[in-house]
Amino acid sequence: MNILFMGPPGAGKGTQAERIVDEFRVPHISTGDAFRLAMSQGTALGVKAKSFVDQGLLVPDEITNGIVKERLEKPDCDNGFLLDGFPRTIAQAEALDEMLASMGKRIDHVINLKVDRDLLLGRLTGRRICKSCGATYHVLFNPPKVDNVCDKCSGELYQRSDDTEEKVGTRLDEYTNKTAPLLEYYAGKGLLREVDGQQDIDAVTAEISSLLRGQA
Ligand code: ADP
Ligand code: ADP
Ligand code: ZN
Repeated sequence: MNILFMGPPGAGKGTQAERIVDEFRVPHISTGDAFRLAMSQGTALGVKAKSFVDQGLLVPDEITNGIVKERLEKPDCDNGFLLDGFPRTIAQAEALDEMLASMGKRIDHVINLKVDRDLLLGRLTGRRICKSCGATYHVLFNPPKVDNVCDKCSGELYQRSDDTEEKVGTRLDEYTNKTAPLLEYYAGKGLLREVDGQQDIDAVTAEISSLLRGQA
């Protein structure tokens, strides 16, 4: 099953992806995670992406499309994949369609997590991530059992440098201007399914899971 998760920054894409990939046994492909890894390792990709990510701007399509293509060609994507945070522009969506067509594949489901804009700032500034395994927490809404320690691997939690009030404003504007138009793109193809992302985390997972199983 080939799945896309859409939604503004802070909608819950990463949180839900962690759970859905466990259930459906497909790889989780997050362009944001790929950029952060490359930046922390100081690779050529990381150097190219850094100034954009640091400002809360989208990384240019040519750079982003290349890493997704390379990832989708890996054999673990043969039985499906979950793309989280890609595509984010119409040009990326068109490039994805071409990549998939050349591999004889197509998108099966596009899940849009809907959350009101005024809730997103609190979600993003309270977000904490595990340095070791990448698990996502929230200081209020999904706290770890022990402060700053990952429940899954005991790793240390950190705050992303772009999860500040100032950067979040830019990121939400990028979403509104460049990414939101994609909803119509996928609605037009009959692939878009809307999920209320303001429910609690378990309820959102249950709804996505039944949509993907064709039971809703
Ligand atoms: P995205 O990947 O869409 O940017 P995340 O999954 O990282 O979003 O979630 C953003 C923040 O909101 C995280 O701190 C996460 O723990 C929290 N969160 C995710 N889903 C919910 C929810 N349904 N209710 C409350 N908080 C949530
Ligand atoms: P969130 O879902 O919380 O906005 P991500 O981790 O998905 O965050 O993305 C973090 C940053 O990585 C974005 O602000 C952007 O700079 C870059 N990025 C991630 N995915 C893309 C993409 N598909 N196209 C361009 N830039 C991207
Ligand atoms: Zn961890």
